[in-house]
Amino acid sequence: MPEMEEDIIRHYYCSICNETHEVKLSNNLSKAHSRFPFPYIFLHGDLRNILTTLYIDNNFEIRSTDVYKLTDEDLFSKTQVIMITSTLIEEIERLREENMKLTDKLKTLNKRFKEE
Ligand SMILES: [Zn+2]
Repeated sequence: MPEMEEDIIRHYYCSICNETHEVKLSNNLSKAHSRFPFPYIFLHGDLRNILTTLYIDNNFEIRSTDVYKLTDEDLFSKTQVIMITSTLIEEIERLREENMKLTDKLKTLNKRFKEE
């Protein structure tokens, strides 16, 4: 029975806009992570200047939220840069590992295919 890979809709309260926003999460998002909750970072707002970090658990529930408004004069603080960079590095490392695993699987499958 094929399952529809639909986006998951969640809501979070944003203290900067002072309202509840809707966020669409890809169904594949949790499969891509092994540690929970994981940080999900994006920009929102009309000017895309609100840095948003949602901490999402394996049931796609938002455990906590960090919002930070970026202004023109306001460059990222050192702590933010470290936080964002380390998250991205972790993500790259995870993708690299996943890529290696998939490459191995593909090799095995190709080998099996040739043997048959
Ligand atoms: Zn907002």
